Amino acid sequence: ATARAAQQQQQAEQAAAALTAEVLQREVARRRNFAIISHPDAGKTTMTEKLLLYGGAIHEAGEVKARKSSRSATSDWMELEKQRGISITSTALTFEFGGCQLNLLDTPGHQDFSEDTYRTLAAADNAVLLVDGAKGIEPQTRKLFAVARMRGLPVFTFVNKMDRPALNGFEIIEQLEKEFGLQSYPVNWPIGSGDRFVGVYHRPSQKVVMYEKSGAAGRAKGARRSEYALTDPELPSLMEPDLWEQLQEDVELLEVLGDELDMDGVMAGKVTPVFFGSAMNNFGVELFLQTFVEQAARPGPASTRQGVDVAPTSPNFTGLVFKLQANMDPKHRDKVAFVRVVSGKFEKGMKVRVARSGRTVTLAAPQRMFANERQTVQEGFAGDVIGLTNPGAFAIGDTLVTGPTLAFPPIPTFSPELFAYLRCAPNQKKPFLKGVEGLLGEGAVQVLYSTDEYITDPVLAAVGQLQFEVVQYRMKDEYGVDTTLEPLQYCVARWVKGGWPALEGVGRLFNTTVMKDVYDRPVLLFRNEFALQQVLGEHGPKLGELSPFALP
Ligand code: GDP
Repeated sequence: ATARAAQQQQQAEQAAAALTAEVLQREVARRRNFAIISHPDAGKTTMTEKLLLYGGAIHEAGEVKARKSSRSATSDWMELEKQRGISITSTALTFEFGGCQLNLLDTPGHQDFSEDTYRTLAAADNAVLLVDGAKGIEPQTRKLFAVARMRGLPVFTFVNKMDRPALNGFEIIEQLEKEFGLQSYPVNWPIGSGDRFVGVYHRPSQKVVMYEKSGAAGRAKGARRSEYALTDPELPSLMEPDLWEQLQEDVELLEVLGDELDMDGVMAGKVTPVFFGSAMNNFGVELFLQTFVEQAARPGPASTRQGVDVAPTSPNFTGLVFKLQANMDPKHRDKVAFVRVVSGKFEKGMKVRVARSGRTVTLAAPQRMFANERQTVQEGFAGDVIGLTNPGAFAIGDTLVTGPTLAFPPIPTFSPELFAYLRCAPNQKKPFLKGVEGLLGEGAVQVLYSTDEYITDPVLAAVGQLQFEVVQYRMKDEYGVDTTLEPLQYCVARWVKGGWPALEGVGRLFNTTVMKDVYDRPVLLFRNEFALQQVLGEHGPKLGELSPFALP
């Protein structure tokens, strides 16, 4: 009888394991995780709202917008940070479309631009490049794209605001090629622009989708559209003759570009499917979303420092802490750690180990943002993002595990563009140093030091002005230290790969300041890109490689 019981037990366990494997397969296969990269004002908020609308997550466009404007309307720092209290809202949004679960990671822009913006891309599987059709590629897009490129993310391009006078579609394609080395595959093509943007030609189906401008109602619920085959005899009568002529010409030209989408190229981040539309008017957004869920990269295997890859369907849970956020609301003095699930199943209340410290932590109150509601998470799978209240156990780049101890490669720090000495009154040195160390550990800011041993004040280095404000505010609020900032006139930093020996080899560098980071590695600071180029021109070969990124 015991043998039979043992056999039954074994069978039950096998069945349970098979079931778990099946659930993991299914859930991972329907996850799509992405971040939007764009320049402020290109329409990211509007696009997000429309995506949520199609995802059925919100019912009226305007809900996301309202949140954004209530936030940016106030410039008061405290107010801003109170809004940040609901920090989880601005990190990851989850919605459903076409049977898939989409996780949209927010990359804060404007005055919120910070290293978190970059780090968020470390947790993304796909990038959606949002381009203003009139302006083409803009500076902030370039910076974010560099990170997407470093990570080899597939890039999907949406050219927005086609209802305004826009650049010619071919010009945009040329920019993508010239600036980013991206080869384009236009999935749809605009018919007219500005007031005369009447529709798009969808190449895979060879259909023309004509939109009706239906005012505010259309914007909120989705524009009315009708579809015609390109060969439909009625079609020419539906648009002005010159648009029809142009369309036929464009279709021919597009064929020359090639009509096969190279999916391997897309997955390698070398070819980008391109879409044209207007987020505000809801033109082309649904077409985009349909193609995106089909083509976007699924959560994939992740490499580790131990040299083994972790499959997303592995039964052991692993997660990556990619962002820490302090809650500034005094009523909720908590810190939130954002974790991307990399493998296995996340469950509320589960115990995990922090690979770095070996500490075991119970994940008690996990949260996520579903559409625009904050929810407690019961379970999660690869590609999902979960907010955890951070008992101080987590650091950026931490790996959480349930199985064998593994660690993901560290998240690099990115070239700061703003630098300033941080100072305090002499009698506050002690809490000051403690505060600097604490904030540094959280990744709120980078810190550099002068190579002159008599200058001990730390230099804060950031990618966005807000990071400085956060540091000063928290120094006062959490460590009781009043600080002053003395801005420095640098805007480019480069790590010397060859370290101090490489630097010694070149002797004195003009128009360059040498500092050291917290790992005592040399960092070169330049006033502008030109100064950097000059140094490279003169000393490049001897100096060796200069990197805009550094690994902790
Ligand atoms: P974000 O800064 O990238 O989040 O941009 P927003 O979504 O806030 O959009 C910036 C401005 O562009 C707002 O005034 C939007 O109403 C407007 N906008 C967004 N999409 C479109 C579009 O498709 N056409 C036009 N004409 N304006 C748009």
